[in-house]
Amino acid sequence: MPKARAAVLRRTGAPMTIETVDVGPLAPGDVLVRVRAASLCHTDLEAIEGSLAVALPAVLGHEAAGDVVELGPEVTTSLKPGDRVVLSWNPHCGTCFYCEHAQPILCTQYLGNAAQAFHFDGRPRLSCDAAPMHQLMYLGSFAEYCIVPEVSAVRVPDAMPFDRAALLGCGVMTGVGAATRIASLRWGDTAMVIGCGAVGLSAVQGCALASAGAIVAVDPNPARRALAQEFGATHAVEPDEAVDVARVLTQDRGADVVIESAGVPAGFRLSVEAVRPGGQVVWLGKVGVQQEVAFRWGSLMQEKRITRSSYGGARPQHDFPLLARAYLEGRLKLDEMISARIDLAAINDGFAALKRGETIRSVVMFP
Ligand SMILES: [Zn+2]
Ligand SMILES: [Zn+2]
Repeated sequence: MPKARAAVLRRTGAPMTIETVDVGPLAPGDVLVRVRAASLCHTDLEAIEGSLAVALPAVLGHEAAGDVVELGPEVTTSLKPGDRVVLSWNPHCGTCFYCEHAQPILCTQYLGNAAQAFHFDGRPRLSCDAAPMHQLMYLGSFAEYCIVPEVSAVRVPDAMPFDRAALLGCGVMTGVGAATRIASLRWGDTAMVIGCGAVGLSAVQGCALASAGAIVAVDPNPARRALAQEFGATHAVEPDEAVDVARVLTQDRGADVVIESAGVPAGFRLSVEAVRPGGQVVWLGKVGVQQEVAFRWGSLMQEKRITRSSYGGARPQHDFPLLARAYLEGRLKLDEMISARIDLAAINDGFAALKRGETIRSVVMFP
């Protein structure tokens, strides 16, 4: 089994260190993936800063693409070595209460193993000097190689460039899925997207793919508003203009669908103020799990529906190939989302830039 150069988080709040880790051996149902591109997402940043509890030392990274190197025993999918794959961070058992209720994101095994950060069998797949090392979300893609459950390796066409394929695995799936899978947006609807980072820009595109009549992008940053218009927003406004714009577009009702992807209390409050009575709100952002967020009670009334979603209702085996095809056919923009391509050694600087809000996505490229 190979050794891999990896970014290792040994202590929260400290920079990751570039180390060589041992990969393997493969257990039943495992797939060895050579990572070719891995992008930096806010959830990794939460793990680095400690607001998301992950057992350490760990290799982070959960938005990635690569190719299949080797299949472990008892792999039942049609994957073969050389296949190009996008990694899904929501492997699920398929048989628990939540899987049977079509909510794989809540899979009992998935959530039960998440903090431990090993695989479903409770055992590690990585080690360093014979000491076990954890993997974020069953992936750990800030490494040259990673071992993933077979359900997490989703084949996409060879024409799909690795760096853009990586984006599909988390942010793009979450944003597009919020519009198309969670909000059930209908043709002609007035949609609003609050917060125009990678997830929000993807939500704007999801609204366009679902044929929204108007798409109002909301962000305090003028550069991001301009980007949102490139991505299909029909209007791009500052937060304090958002409610008025939604009303003007809808004979004073408010937006049919509001997708929040800013992750700040003011964004959550705005989402319910801007949606129409009976409309649908989707929250994608988050604040600290112990933090309280206040609402004007009246803004929550009138049959409004609110769903908090982590992965946009993803069905990765179905959705990743669809998203890849949309990109290859020119219907989904990904090139413009990549702010920087960096070496693994620059990963700490990449996260600092993400935290400062300077980048949409930085992508670690592996040679
Ligand atoms: Zn993510
Ligand atoms: Zn399950």
